[in-house]
Order: sequence, then C-alpha cells, then structure tokens
Amino acid sequence: MTPPGALASVTGTVDLVDRTSRQVRYLRISLLDRCNYRCTYCMPDEPMEFGAREEVLRLEEVVSLAAAFARWGVQRVRLTGGEPTLRRGLVDLVGSLARLDAHTPSGLRPLEVVMTTNAERLAPMAAPLRQAGLRGLTISIDSLVPERFARITRRGNLHNVLSGIDAANAAGYEHLKLNTVAIKGFNDDELAELAMFAWSKGMTPRFIEQMPMSGGATFVPGEMMSAAQVRDAVARVVGSELVADDGQGVRGHGPASYWRVASGPWAGYRLGTIGALTENFCGTCNRLRVSATGQLHGCLARDETGDLRAALRGGRCGEVERVVKRVLATKRDAHAFGLDGHGGPRKAMMSIGG
Ligand code: SF4
Repeated sequence: MTPPGALASVTGTVDLVDRTSRQVRYLRISLLDRCNYRCTYCMPDEPMEFGAREEVLRLEEVVSLAAAFARWGVQRVRLTGGEPTLRRGLVDLVGSLARLDAHTPSGLRPLEVVMTTNAERLAPMAAPLRQAGLRGLTISIDSLVPERFARITRRGNLHNVLSGIDAANAAGYEHLKLNTVAIKGFNDDELAELAMFAWSKGMTPRFIEQMPMSGGATFVPGEMMSAAQVRDAVARVVGSELVADDGQGVRGHGPASYWRVASGPWAGYRLGTIGALTENFCGTCNRLRVSATGQLHGCLARDETGDLRAALRGGRCGEVERVVKRVLATKRDAHAFGLDGHGGPRKAMMSIGG
C-alpha cells in the first residue's frame, strides 16, 4: 500500500482499445477549468463555479498519468483548459512531459506534446514553451474584427492574440493551427479572410461546427454552420474549388478532414473542417480526455467518466488501470448530438477543453 498522500504507482499494463475496437493514441489533458475569456458558445453568461484548488490535479499527477498513458501507447498529449497558459508551472510541466517516451508499435519515440490556447497571454511564453519541448500550438480565433472578437470572447484583446501568433512563429514550432468556430450571422462573412490570414502566417486554418454542450444551453440551431457550408463560403472568396486532401504533414491525431485549394492565388493551401454534427467521425475516434479534476472522459459528447484523481490519491495499486479499463469498456460508439441542439452532454466545453 502506498504511504498516505503519496501517489499510487501506475505500473500495470492497459490495452488502450475501446469497446468497439478503436485504438487510443491521443490524450487531451485539461490543466484547469478556468479561463480568461467567456466565449459565448462555450460558457453560459452566468457566474462560473470553479472547482476548489485541491480538486485540480497537481502537476506531478498530470505527469504520472501522462507517463502511464505514453507507456500504454498514447503518442500525443494535447494540453487544454479552460485556458492552459493560466496554469502556474506550465513551462516546467511541458519539459517533464516532453522527456517522456511514447511506446509505439515501431518502438520508443518522444511523446509529442502540443497545446490549444486562446493566445491572449502567449507572446511572452511562446519561446520558453518551445524550448521546453512543446512542438505544436493550436490557437483559437473566431474573428479578425476587433469589435466582433471582443463581443464573442467577452474579454479578449485581439491585438494580444496577434502578438502571440507572431511570437509563436518566431519561436519555430513544428506546426501552428488556427481554430475557428463557424457561426452564421457572426463570422460567416469572414471565414475566407481567416483562412487567408492563417496561410499568410504559415498556419493551417480549421473550421469547427458548433456542438450542443452544456445541455444545449450555448447552442443556437440557426447559427450552426456545417462543414460543407464553410468550404463553400471559402471557395467562393478564394475563387477556386476545394478538393479533398490527405492532410499529409498537417494531419495530427484529431478529427479534422483536410481540403486543398485547387487553383488560383491560393492554390495548394490547405484547410481543415471538423464537422461533428454533419460529417460524423466517431468511427475513427482515437482519444480520451482527462479533466482538470482528474475525471477520465471516454467521449467529449457524453457525461460518463472515471475518477482517476481518487485512484491516484487513494494509493491502491492497480486502481488507475481499473478506471481506464472501465472507461474503455463502456465508451459509447458515437455522440448523440442533434442539429436541434439536443443530445449533448450536461458538461460545458470549458470543463474539458474541447
Ligand atoms: S464525439 Fe466522442 S466518440 Fe465521437 S469523436 Fe468525439 S470523443 Fe470520439
């Protein structure tokens, strides 16, 4: 038995294959449930209740879990939030994670550590994070119009975000992506501008369909823009059709499908669309998520979880492995998102970092 207060040692083996034979290779870890933004489609417009500090996983617990999952076959860890740049000790955490080995079918290789951020605080951190071993960044921007940006984030400063992007470019990341939630009546008239902005910054733009999280409270059916509508809107402005692309070189472990501009001034440039509602990709799902409070989520769109924090802190040997096996054995085939906003989980997007 592990001494009281000490972490349970996770030494067992888990075959990271779920109930429908999908292999897990990708772990998303939320570092905190707090954010410096209040994006309208992510957070309901009400005072947020955040978990007590001691409920949040300690950094050494995050490393212990990531080390176990890397040993079991996870090849990429994505750090999310809330907003991960708000987490103290982030640079050291990245350093610890980047020193881990992923056990892959073709042998050991460095665990790939990437992060999703709103980049509001990124400018001074981009270089230290890169030097610590962070390999890729995904930056969320839903509008390049300062007034719109302020309206949808309720607190954001576009200028700071653009400075963060320039700092990330200067720091020499392996890949930079720009994520945009496409919303009818809000940014549907600037999607091509967002794509061209990303291309001009050496980034890969990806457009995301809204998902009915928070029990549908933040989802407005009429505002949901499908992946196909996004591609049409961009094609109209760049003056060329978009053709399917294998995403070689940009495709990570995520669900995006990739498209290439066929002709014209932007010929060859690529973008991604993430169409959870209209272009379901659950059949190839390869990921699990750990919330900031150590709850293991088999699926973004479902509320069932396993308590890794209790297993870690409880000290019982093999308990973490049992929790992971249980979540894999009960993971649902697919989400139940409906275009009418029903079928989503009660949890908010910001509690699990997308
Ligand atoms: S909705 Fe759930 S099952 Fe579908 S891809 Fe996302 S996490 Fe996987």
